[in-house]
Amino acid sequence: MPRALPYPVRLLFAAIPALCAWLLWAGQTTAATPWAAVINPSRGPAQVIGTPANGCVGGADTLPESGPGYVSVRRARHRFYGHPELLRLLEQLGQTAARRHFGLVMIGDLSQPRGGQMPSSHHSHQNGLDADIWFTLAPTPEAARRLMDDQRDPPSMVLPVSLASSNAWGEPQRFLLESVARNPAVDRIFVNPGIKRAVCNEVTGDRTWLRKLRPWWGHDSHFHVRIRCPAGSPKCEPQAALPAGDGCGPELAWWFKPEATGKTRKKDEPRPDVIAPAACMAVLSDR
Ligand SMILES: [Zn+2]
Repeated sequence: MPRALPYPVRLLFAAIPALCAWLLWAGQTTAATPWAAVINPSRGPAQVIGTPANGCVGGADTLPESGPGYVSVRRARHRFYGHPELLRLLEQLGQTAARRHFGLVMIGDLSQPRGGQMPSSHHSHQNGLDADIWFTLAPTPEAARRLMDDQRDPPSMVLPVSLASSNAWGEPQRFLLESVARNPAVDRIFVNPGIKRAVCNEVTGDRTWLRKLRPWWGHDSHFHVRIRCPAGSPKCEPQAALPAGDGCGPELAWWFKPEATGKTRKKDEPRPDVIAPAACMAVLSDR
């Protein structure tokens, strides 16, 4: 029978799995995306490059921590940068909500200082055109901070399984969606199919804005707004045109069939195989 190993050696062996896990994690978080390491926007005029799922933004603007009618939340994630047109839209939304006394609009992730891939949460949000807006409005900035304090999201607007709208869904939430969708700068908005269905059932009269509401997995406690390629960004690649109509018919019905409800969405993780547009290298390497 071999003699027992000395205590320090046994300790070293015991630590090997933890050490390997740490090295793997450290390697992934630093090598997966250099964009997350950049702390400030690049210099020069605002430039949107590529697509929301593979691109970047130069000369981005910084969304202030708060302004009339809005508060920017989860600032520690350092994702409050975007094209000036996106910031204008968010600021206008805050002002409109303030006039209606609905509370403060809580604005979540935009892009990193220069856009690009994120280490977690999103595949898109890369070129300064995307923003997440929480459906829940906050009475005060302190309440917003409390609501978003931990990693739990504010209440869902839809019930699990049935995807019927929950008690949290109401006039302020529909108002947020309609205000954003009616803005000509907006290209599309991603919402949970349950929310799209609720709006399809509720809206009478002019329904043209419903076309911009695109059903997607998740997006039940926040919605995701994407603006069009702004003027002065020739390297911005526009999205495919939206299908005609309000999208309340068969296209929406598919989302409630077992083939859709049974599907689980792929996790949003960095994709090292995706090569960013060449023009993004100049944005990334700017001092
Ligand atoms: Zn989003």
